[in-house]
Amino acid sequence: MNEQVQRELLVALGASLFQRGFSVGSAGNISVRLADGYLMTPTNSSLGRLEATRISKLDPEWRHIGGDRPTKEVFLHRAFLTARPDAGAVVHLHSTHATAISCLDGVIPPLTPYFVMRAGREVPLIPYYRPGDAAMEPAIHEAALRAKAVLLANHGPVICGATLADAVNAAEELEEAAKLALLLKAHDPRRLTPAQVEDLLTTFG
Ligand code: ZN
Repeated sequence: MNEQVQRELLVALGASLFQRGFSVGSAGNISVRLADGYLMTPTNSSLGRLEATRISKLDPEWRHIGGDRPTKEVFLHRAFLTARPDAGAVVHLHSTHATAISCLDGVIPPLTPYFVMRAGREVPLIPYYRPGDAAMEPAIHEAALRAKAVLLANHGPVICGATLADAVNAAEELEEAAKLALLLKAHDPRRLTPAQVEDLLTTFG
């Protein structure tokens, strides 16, 4: 997929997330790996109103080379994209239910197969850091070596996918899993067993 197509897809999927309430105001940011660098949503931009020509472009050394200035949270994306060669895109949201769980114990239990297929075995909770604090990067990088998604304490989720569409689908699935976890919290729901989780990961990789 060439860069222009990726830019247009980023605008369309950002608007879709925004219109359905997965992101509000200027919260959330998205990155895409290119053959010659990275695309990143600009600082203070709304996912609902991205413009293809103003999306930030960074070179392979993460230097800003085009478009508006990139998000202040660029290091969240760098942590994932450097830890995971399998990741083609990263989505960070402040989506309501996943963020709610990030303010509680941080555990999103394995309740449904699609959540496990998208997010993997575990979603580690990263301790709280002030937004923009670069000290968060090594903590996320270390977790991303073993996990496809993390929850930033009292902040929100970060999740990757092989492509931009995959990463957006994964972010939506994570938010729905968090919503289910909260809906069912008082009911002691049946979780998938460790054997069922492993079976999913082996079958669907
Ligand atoms: Zn954030």
